[in-house]
Amino acid sequence: MPDTPRKALFIDRDGIINEDTGYPHKPEHIRFNEAAFPLCKAAAEKGYLLIVITNQAGVAKGKFTEEDVKSLHQWMMGEFKKRGIAITGFYYCPHHPEASVPEYRVACNCRKPKPGMIEQAMKDFNIDMRRSLVIGDKPSDRIALEGLRSIIVKSRYSGDDFDAEELSEVMRYL
Ligand SMILES: [Mg+2]
Repeated sequence: MPDTPRKALFIDRDGIINEDTGYPHKPEHIRFNEAAFPLCKAAAEKGYLLIVITNQAGVAKGKFTEEDVKSLHQWMMGEFKKRGIAITGFYYCPHHPEASVPEYRVACNCRKPKPGMIEQAMKDFNIDMRRSLVIGDKPSDRIALEGLRSIIVKSRYSGDDFDAEELSEVMRYL
């Protein structure tokens, strides 16, 4: 019998999980948004898989490497685990159309708002998109996939295009 599809909370990283301090890529750069932990915990208790999706154009711009991104995500996963929270996966986009590193200079399908990272996660896990939710701090975190809800938290990037004033408010959308 096939497994019942799960719902997922797709979480932006910089600006949601941690403060967007300008290309953070090492544990010592990370200042967690403390409100992210109870939100993730509540979501997990309600049956959401927790999946981080993050544009990391710093790779394309030569500011850090994919290895830096992967090891930071391993460390972050451990920090969540210490708090009793299991992150199912981290997906990142290293590309940028104007990259200084030629191999990353591509018009990819994964840089948000393109849906590539979410499509990949949906292949990797059995996810019901219509019951899932995206959280981000930029209008470009609204993923171009019909039927997928997104909640934008007010930030210096959001302008008037936001749904919640504070991260803690996202709780009521779960
Ligand atoms: Mg962000």
